[in-house]
Amino acid sequence: MKIEKHKVVSIDYTLKDDQGNIIDSSRGGEPLAYIQGVGNLIPGLESALEGGSKGDRLSVSVPPERGYGVLEDHLIHVLRRDQFEGVEELEVGMQFHAHADNGAVQTVVVTKIDGDNVTIDGNHPLAGKNLHFDVAVVEVRDATAEELEHGHVHGPGGHHH
Ligand SMILES: [Zn+2]
Repeated sequence: MKIEKHKVVSIDYTLKDDQGNIIDSSRGGEPLAYIQGVGNLIPGLESALEGGSKGDRLSVSVPPERGYGVLEDHLIHVLRRDQFEGVEELEVGMQFHAHADNGAVQTVVVTKIDGDNVTIDGNHPLAGKNLHFDVAVVEVRDATAEELEHGHVHGPGGHHH
């Protein structure tokens, strides 16, 4: 069975950055299961897997534009410490949920604290990075009608509900 739109694909993967550091990996856990062609995966990885089949192994390098996007300066803000009222101890790496103008909830991370100036960054942690994947295709099957309706995989490697 070929990987094409609306197939459920299970993959083992390891993701590395330009320096070869492992950022993420499914090894030692369940394979990642996703539905091809519905935006579950970043575009660069999904298109590399299209047409593949069980047992395939591939190495894919994905630029930011086909991954988690480029770094957007307008998502980085410097706030004053007193704007974090109610937060007892502010630390680099803390995450907050911010409400964007369009009502969407955005996760921002404190990236720098300099005296009273606190820098927060709303970019995806992997934005602006080249992503290097080693992928093995573990299984390919048809998606169920329910999975297509929900837009995600049920069972091993997917949602349990
Ligand atoms: Zn579901």
